[in-house]
Amino acid sequence: MDRILITGAAGFIGSHLCDRFANEGFYVIGMDNLITGDMRNIDHLLPRDNFEFHHHDVTKFVHISGELDYILHFASPASPIDYLKIPIQTLKVSSLGIHNLLGLAKDKKARLLIASTSEVYGDPLVHPQSEDYYGNVNTISPRGVYDEAKRFQESMTMAYHRFHGMETRIARIFNTYGPRMRLNDGRVIPAFIGQALRGEDLTVFGDGSQTRSFCYIEDQVEGLYRLLFSDYTDPVNIGNPEEISIRDFAGEVIKLTGTDQKIIYKPLPQDDPMQRQPDIAKAREILGWEPKVNRSEGMRKTYEYFKNLPPEELNKKEH
Ligand code: NAD
Ligand code: UDP
Repeated sequence: MDRILITGAAGFIGSHLCDRFANEGFYVIGMDNLITGDMRNIDHLLPRDNFEFHHHDVTKFVHISGELDYILHFASPASPIDYLKIPIQTLKVSSLGIHNLLGLAKDKKARLLIASTSEVYGDPLVHPQSEDYYGNVNTISPRGVYDEAKRFQESMTMAYHRFHGMETRIARIFNTYGPRMRLNDGRVIPAFIGQALRGEDLTVFGDGSQTRSFCYIEDQVEGLYRLLFSDYTDPVNIGNPEEISIRDFAGEVIKLTGTDQKIIYKPLPQDDPMQRQPDIAKAREILGWEPKVNRSEGMRKTYEYFKNLPPEELNKKEH
């Protein structure tokens, strides 16, 4: 049985990856310090004999006994609200954290895949974004703690690949959504659905003309799975190219949820990217992958999930 370490296991994407790999017959070691994650995302895996959980901060020395074939590094705050609230941890998890995991991967001769992000392109001046675009990031803005840490993480990973000949993979993940996102994590999809469910107006930041392209979690996991088992080392965008303005998206959520609330406008956060759409030509060619779930189907499933959460979750305000 191949053994895989998944960091950020109790988070949104990490928990879905734990499910996928456990179901594929891997021995999964989930690791998380629960800073933004929730054990409820992986409680169902605990009784399984091919899953174990380590409550651990990956910025501290990471020890795993026995063999390890693969590592997926998904630990990191991922919502703008989270990484603005915990900026130093955000910088550390993609610098000290990746250093520890690269050391572990080298020691175990394991293949390591990192969760990079479309944020490495910053507020992009090229549209759509392909992997050869170097990006437009303000290093010293509040948002820079996430973007720049992820950029460093890519450099560190490539240095270990080149210098030590290690097997590494880099996924540049674009906005991904689905069940197990935190209702109050501030990201636009849980934010809008939460507001609709509470009977509040939907808060669009800026004039809402900024765009995003949303990828459903099942598609994302499939893309990541294929990337891990490909022989491709350079970064690959994984996302859904279907682009929409945030204002139009708010309209879609109003229709989906049937809320009679309206859109209200709030200031645009500093350095909020004005446009974002992945060019996925590389993923199509190298991984034979493209998203299958369109936004209306993905949003329906996501809404179902949030609608069925216990009422106390709905009213829990974190921020
Ligand atoms: P999430 O907040 O739900 O999950 C992140 C998990 O990492 C949490 O469970 C958190 O507790 C854990 N974590 C954070 N710091 C840690 C540390 N020092 N040690 C151990 N665990 C730690 O976020 P997510 O959306 O699931 O994102 C997962 C990964 O994917 C992140 O690396 C993120 O940057 C990347 N990503 C996500 C998206 C997206 O749209 N969801 C887009 C691009 C990149
Ligand atoms: N956004 C918004 N209202 C909200 C939350 C977010 O208009 O209540 C906007 C935000 O300014 C950004 C887009 O939605 O332009 C996506 O935000 P999110 O935090 O989901 O992700 P990211 O900015 O990292 O892509």
